[in-house]
Amino acid sequence: MRATLIHGPGDIRVETVPDPVLSTGRDAIVRVVAACVCGSDLWPYRGVTPTREPRRIGHEFVGVVEAVGDAVERVRPGDFVIAPFYVCDGTCANCRNGVSTSCLHGGWWGSADREGGFADGAQGERVRVPLADGTLAVVPGPVADDEVPGLLTLSDVMGTGHHAAVSAGVGPGDAVAVVGDGAVGLCAVIAAKRLGATTIIAMSRHPERQALAREFGATHVVAERGDAGIEAVREVTGGLGADRVLECVGTKESMDQAIRSARPGGMVGYVGVPNGGPELPVRRLFETNVGVNGGVAPVRGYIEELLPDVRSGAIRPGLVFDLELPLEDAAEAYAAMDDRRAVKVLLRP
Ligand SMILES: [Zn+2]
Repeated sequence: MRATLIHGPGDIRVETVPDPVLSTGRDAIVRVVAACVCGSDLWPYRGVTPTREPRRIGHEFVGVVEAVGDAVERVRPGDFVIAPFYVCDGTCANCRNGVSTSCLHGGWWGSADREGGFADGAQGERVRVPLADGTLAVVPGPVADDEVPGLLTLSDVMGTGHHAAVSAGVGPGDAVAVVGDGAVGLCAVIAAKRLGATTIIAMSRHPERQALAREFGATHVVAERGDAGIEAVREVTGGLGADRVLECVGTKESMDQAIRSARPGGMVGYVGVPNGGPELPVRRLFETNVGVNGGVAPVRGYIEELLPDVRSGAIRPGLVFDLELPLEDAAEAYAAMDDRRAVKVLLRP
C-alpha cells in the first residue's frame, strides 16, 4: 500500500510499504477514507524535533473497518470509524479516569505497539489499529461524504479545542480569550461558544482566520500581541482580563500571553504542544490566583459527546480544512501548512 514517510526536515515522501496484517486478535484493519496534517507534524518537518531515520507519519484519520481480530467485540467490518490521535484500551485505570492519553496499554500511530505489532501512520491507505475496541469510535451509518471533514476533526483538533475549554472551566456567560488561530484555536472558539461563553475574543492577525473565528462564534478579534494584545483583551472585558483563556499554540510567548490575559482568579486551559520552553511564572500565578490546567487532550473520551453536534451541523469544525489533496501530494500538503497557505490540509488516499 501507499503511505507517507518523513525522511528529514522538509522531506516528505509517499512510498510503497507493506500491507498491514492482523496479529493480536484485538486489532483491526481500517481503510483510510481521509487523513490530515497536524500542526504538530510540522515540528519534525521544520527540524525542530529530530528525525533520526525515515518513519511513518500522521495521526488523524477516519475510515471504514475492513477486518477485525477474533477478540474484537464492538467494532465490525463495514463500520465507519474515527480514530483518536493515539491508541488506548478504554478500560485501564487511566482511561477510566478520563486520561486515555496516558493509557497503560496505549501507544502512538506510526510506531510499534506493545505486543510486537505495528500501528501504521495515519497518512496512508490502510492502518492496523491495535486495541480496536478501545481506540475506535464507531459512527452509526450511513455517513455522507460531506460529513467526512467534520468527523475527521474529532480525531484531534475539535476534541483538543474542547479540552482547552473544559480544562479552563468555560461555562455560561464567560468571557473567553483564545490564543492561537490554527485549527485547534479555531476549534477552541467553537468549543467556548458551545459551552455557553458570551464574549469570545479570538487573538489572530490573519484576515481569513479572523473571519472563520467570527463564523465560529468569536465576538471580538484582537490582532495585537504582547502588552498591546493584553491591553486589548482588558478593554473588551471591562478592564479585568478574560475569565478563561484557551492557550492553543505551545510557545513561551503564547503561554505568557495567555497567563497575562486572564483576570485575577481566572483560568488558563492549555493544549498547545509545548515547544521552545514555556515555563510557569509561579509567583505571578500566586499573586493573581490565575490557574493553569490542561495538557495533551484525551480526545477519545470526547468523541461521543461532540459527535451529535457535528452530525447535526450545530457545530461545523470541518470548515478548518481549507485545502484537500490526494494522498500522493502529501509533500505539498506539508509545504502549504508550513507556509501558512493553508490552515489544515485534508488528504484522500
Ligand atoms: Zn487504558
